[in-house]
Amino acid sequence: GKAIGVFTSGGDSPGMNSAVRAVVRMGYFLGCHVYYIKEGYQGMVDGGDHIIEATWASSSGIMQLGGTVIGSARCKDFREREGRLQAAHNLVDNNITNLVVIGGDGSLTGANLFRVEWSSLLDELVKQGKITMDKRIRCSHLNIVGLVGSIDNDFCGTDMTIGTDTALHRIIESVDAISTTASSHQRCFIMEVMGRHCGYLALVAGLASEADWIFIPEWPPEAGWEDVMCRKLETERSLGQRLNILLIAEGAIDRQGRAITPDMIKEIITTRLKYDTRVTILGHVQRGGSPSAFDRLLGARMGAEAVLALMDATPNTPACVVSLDGNQTVRVPLMQCVERTQNVKSAMDKKDFEEAVRLRGKS
Ligand code: ADP
Repeated sequence: GKAIGVFTSGGDSPGMNSAVRAVVRMGYFLGCHVYYIKEGYQGMVDGGDHIIEATWASSSGIMQLGGTVIGSARCKDFREREGRLQAAHNLVDNNITNLVVIGGDGSLTGANLFRVEWSSLLDELVKQGKITMDKRIRCSHLNIVGLVGSIDNDFCGTDMTIGTDTALHRIIESVDAISTTASSHQRCFIMEVMGRHCGYLALVAGLASEADWIFIPEWPPEAGWEDVMCRKLETERSLGQRLNILLIAEGAIDRQGRAITPDMIKEIITTRLKYDTRVTILGHVQRGGSPSAFDRLLGARMGAEAVLALMDATPNTPACVVSLDGNQTVRVPLMQCVERTQNVKSAMDKKDFEEAVRLRGKS
């Protein structure tokens, strides 16, 4: 059977373990050998005991855990050709020419580059006498399937990324917890949630928790927003609400591109309205903890589909990502998604928000 390497890379997200488990089990079911590549690209570059064969038992009892049990890392070496050459050597040593990469857009960009370079990397290894011509021919094609693990839901081409739903649960649990204490003391709470380029978490958590106001990077508020916001908070109070909740995405900015920070908002509210106002920065609790049922199933379905995609791959099949479209797992070209995602980021950097939202499209 084919040899498949599976690894998690970049920022961790809840549900990654479920995806790893599904890759191992679907792989075994189809008669493949599946290898864990530990600590992401770093393990691929370092080789040795970072690349170990997965067993059925070793993929048990991990679905319910957050994070990634096979480790993740940011890897400088892999950004250099020398590092990728070493990684290619370690893979062919283990006869691995099929990869499932579970990570964010950076990890998938790296995977795409690796695939494009693969032939020339192997030629170089032959020239250096590190692999035989026979090996070169047997390993001539690298198949790659990507799964998007990210709590931010910031990747173009999929309705949901693995981990987003869990992060939303974490946020609304926190808003609920804060709300009871806020209400007791008639306080106003400003909560900062993750999302540097993408306001999905703040927007959806805000909708699901009756927040009074949200700030997201894609929608900088119009001039004079301070007055509108204060009026809104006052209205809520006058209608009998004993608290206010405002959510801010990390990357929120105003029309001039200046950061909107929790302290800034606190200053405005305390000065103008004299409300007792507190700030909570949720931070890494949003990434941690056990994955929701949705993320466990999403990871499982995507992991299984990834193995099927590898089985179907021919030398001419472009690398794909498994994405969620409605309620279906579908395969979409990796290059296209990575490019779209990067175009959204550059539109955001240029403060062209309408273009960013248009490029992001439906998914
Ligand atoms: P994420 O996958 O969560 O977006 P990063 O952007 O940090 O996280 O990427 C994870 C790793 O992927 C990097 O540490 C690096 O090893 C690899 N990588 C990212 N971008 C590239 C690139 N353009 N070329 C080669 N490797 C890359």
